[in-house]
Amino acid sequence: MAFTRRSFLAGLAACPLCAATARASEGAHWSYEDVQSWGARDPAARACAVGAEQSPIDLKGAVKADIRAPTLTWKQQAFEIVNNGYTIQADAAPGSFAVSEGRKFELKQFHFHAPSEHAIQGARTAMEAHFVHAGQDGALLVLGALLSAGAKNQALATIVGAAPEKEGRERLKSPIDASTLLPKKRGFFRYEGSLTTPPCSEVVNWTVFSTPVDVASADIDAFRKLFPMNARPLQELHRRIVLRN
Ligand SMILES: [Zn+2]
Repeated sequence: MAFTRRSFLAGLAACPLCAATARASEGAHWSYEDVQSWGARDPAARACAVGAEQSPIDLKGAVKADIRAPTLTWKQQAFEIVNNGYTIQADAAPGSFAVSEGRKFELKQFHFHAPSEHAIQGARTAMEAHFVHAGQDGALLVLGALLSAGAKNQALATIVGAAPEKEGRERLKSPIDASTLLPKKRGFFRYEGSLTTPPCSEVVNWTVFSTPVDVASADIDAFRKLFPMNARPLQELHRRIVLRN
């Protein structure tokens, strides 16, 4: 899919967190069809091509560690649902937090990929949700929830039902509880990685839950009608260690 400059800029406006990032790589259009050349032309996105701590990865060979899942205090809210040309994203109002290892991060937005970006022992699921939290020092804490076909998840159904078919935004009519998109079993993997879209900045503390969450196959299909493939290929682990709880 080719993105016009206008649609690209509209996408930026749709993602406040991406603003700094976007300025750095403004004019550098990207697409999933062009994924092998991310970072080749745009110096600001060089990490995509040469970074050694890139995401997503295959989660395997994890080392058991004494680590805890982040403590979440998310507000139920009528999220603003954005089609930014790359995904469907729910923008959060201020005041929802995650505390991880004593550090506080604020929920900025969550969005979806199809298929999942992370794999477990080589296996991807139908979709993945990313809950993006920002810390005061520019670090990001992203929670990844793998989604697979099964019982209906009302939060996803509501979001997909409200999502604009073309680039744009639509406020939900009533509040939803985004935490219902997380698994009840809180086994997780943790590793240091990157944004999975240009500029691929290596500033992300990843927590990916190991148990997939059921969502209706009709809702997966509805998302894939808008975005048939918006997942970055798996990246090399290099010298990193994946932890699990
Ligand atoms: Zn993502």
